[in-house]
Amino acid sequence: MSESAEPRAKPGSQTSLRNANQRRVLDTVRRNGHLTQAQISRRTALAPSTVSNIVHELIGAGLLVMEADNAGRRGQLISFSGSAGHVVGIDVGNRHLTVAVADLNQRILAQRRHDLPAGHRFADDLELAGRALDDLLDGLGTARPELLAAGLTLPAPVDLDGRLISASSILPAWSGIDVREEAGRRLGLPVVVENDANAGALGEHAWGAGRGARNMAYIKIGHGVGSGLILNGALFRGATGSAGEIGHSTVDERGRVCRCGNRGCLETYVSSEETTRLLADTHGPDLTIPDLVAAAAAGDVGCARVIGDTGRMLGTSVANLCNIINPELVVVGGEISRAGDLLLDPLREIVSRYGVRGSVQDLRIEAARLGIQAHVAGAVILALQHAELPAGAGPTR
Ligand SMILES: [Zn+2]
Repeated sequence: MSESAEPRAKPGSQTSLRNANQRRVLDTVRRNGHLTQAQISRRTALAPSTVSNIVHELIGAGLLVMEADNAGRRGQLISFSGSAGHVVGIDVGNRHLTVAVADLNQRILAQRRHDLPAGHRFADDLELAGRALDDLLDGLGTARPELLAAGLTLPAPVDLDGRLISASSILPAWSGIDVREEAGRRLGLPVVVENDANAGALGEHAWGAGRGARNMAYIKIGHGVGSGLILNGALFRGATGSAGEIGHSTVDERGRVCRCGNRGCLETYVSSEETTRLLADTHGPDLTIPDLVAAAAAGDVGCARVIGDTGRMLGTSVANLCNIINPELVVVGGEISRAGDLLLDPLREIVSRYGVRGSVQDLRIEAARLGIQAHVAGAVILALQHAELPAGAGPTR
């Protein structure tokens, strides 16, 4: 990401110190949302008088605002002003594209979801995302120059430089593209690219079922199956960005050949396609996962059986994962997670059977609270983390 366009202050000078302190205040408000000046002071370890000066400078520069706390308990709360800038989250799935615009106070202001054809191409997707973005900005009365960064999530492994790792990816038409570079050029913004299971983990950890969890695994069940790992409070991406590929853990080495080239991977048993395929003869070829979940909830025995079996198939791989990383929480996401305990009870039973007691006795297994929103929420969080905030406000500016 490019450095700030601010003229560089000499290291160690008063101006450089004030800029550094401003950044600490801005970053603290960005990470935590609304805070009192006393909370900012504690979290930045800056003196209350220093915080007060900086906050007033940043209010003067139009970046921060001060509002009364609605609950009336904590005094004035500091947050970003509407004109401080916005970020974009873009979630590209196997058959959908969602674009969301958020402010710097971690609020999604507007979003739009589009269906995509099979085999959709990168250039078309980015063009659609650009049009959707312009429409959303029009509706909000905001302009492109106010955008600071975009987060883009994909159902494919992404390396630490934002490139697709695997040629056998779920997005064959995206193969070989330097997604971060190309998307950045097309959108005219700094773009951070992430795998959708990792983004889902970030989303659920920040805003959903995983709030406050120190160690958690997010399991995404969709066209592909993957996991995102939060370890010691932060996303764990592994040496190359490929951590968490639970969908390609081997269930039966003599099973069907998987798109990764191995045989009998978990994904070949529990992906959306496999789940609906099991019911094609009895329930028709066009059954979707939401149909399946609704039918099971209404008492359809076959649909309930398939959902329960999906939970059981997941169980062994999730137990193995828990034996290794010992999370306190497993969050299950994707459309099928709306089945709730129909899916989760069989999963819990198998995890408690195959998990080492010390690893799983206090483990919670829950459905994603953000549902299919988890990935675009993660994209927004990534954009917020990578947005270069304007700073350097003050008398010497
Ligand atoms: Zn595989």
